[in-house]
Amino acid sequence: MNKANMNNVEKLSLLRKLDSSIKQVEKKIKRKDQELKSLQQELSNLKSQVEHKQKNLEKEKIELHRWELELKETEEKLKSTREKLYSGEITSAKELTQWEKSMEKLEKQQSELEEETLQRMEKIEVLQKEFQKEKKLLSEKSSEIEAALEKLEKEIAHLRSEEESLSSERQKILDLLPKEILSSYQEIISSSVEPVIVELNQGICEGCNLQVPTIVAKQVRKKEIVRCPNCGRLLLPKP
Ligand SMILES: [Zn+2]
Repeated sequence: MNKANMNNVEKLSLLRKLDSSIKQVEKKIKRKDQELKSLQQELSNLKSQVEHKQKNLEKEKIELHRWELELKETEEKLKSTREKLYSGEITSAKELTQWEKSMEKLEKQQSELEEETLQRMEKIEVLQKEFQKEKKLLSEKSSEIEAALEKLEKEIAHLRSEEESLSSERQKILDLLPKEILSSYQEIISSSVEPVIVELNQGICEGCNLQVPTIVAKQVRKKEIVRCPNCGRLLLPKP
C-alpha cells in the first residue's frame, strides 16, 4: 500500500506494528550483546588463569635456580674443606677439631639443600604439568569461544541492519502524520509510556486496561484519532 494514500488509522496501525518490531529487535540485540560480553569475559578469565600459572611456574624456576646455586657453593666449600683437612697441613689437634666441625656443618647443610632442591624440582614438575593442561584447555576453549563470538557478532550486525531499516520505515510514517498526531505521539514517547499506540478492545484501552467513556469509544469507531483519557495513549479501533 502506498503510504501517502493511507488514512490516519492505517498510518498509526503500521506505526504501532513497526514500534513493536523495533522493540523486539532491540531486545534481541541487547540479549546477544550480553551473551557476547559474557563470552569475552570467560575467554579473558581463561587467559589470565593460564598467565597466572605461567608466572607462578617461572617464579618457582627462578627460586630453584637460587637454591641450586647455594647448593653448588656449599659443595665447593665442602670440597676445599675436605682437601684442607686431609692435606696433612694441619697439625694442631685443636685446629683439626675445628676443621672437622666445620666439615660436618657443611655436610649437614649440603644434605638439607639437596633435599630442598629435590622438593622444589618435584613441585615444578607438577606445576609444569598443570600449566600444560591449562594451556591445552585454553587453546581448545578459545577456538570454541572465538567461533561463538564471531557468530554472535554476525547476528548482532544483522539485527542492527534490520533495526535500521525498520527505523527508516517508521520515520517515513512519522513524516506523513499530521502535525497534531505527531506531536501527541512524541509527547507520549517523551513521557516514557510504552507502547504509544494501542487498540481499544470493547471499550477497554489495551494500554491501561481501563474503560474509556462511550463518547471516546464512538470517536475511535469513527476512525478519529483520539487519546485514552486515562493513560494518554493513542487509540486505534480493533480491526
Ligand atoms: Zn489507556
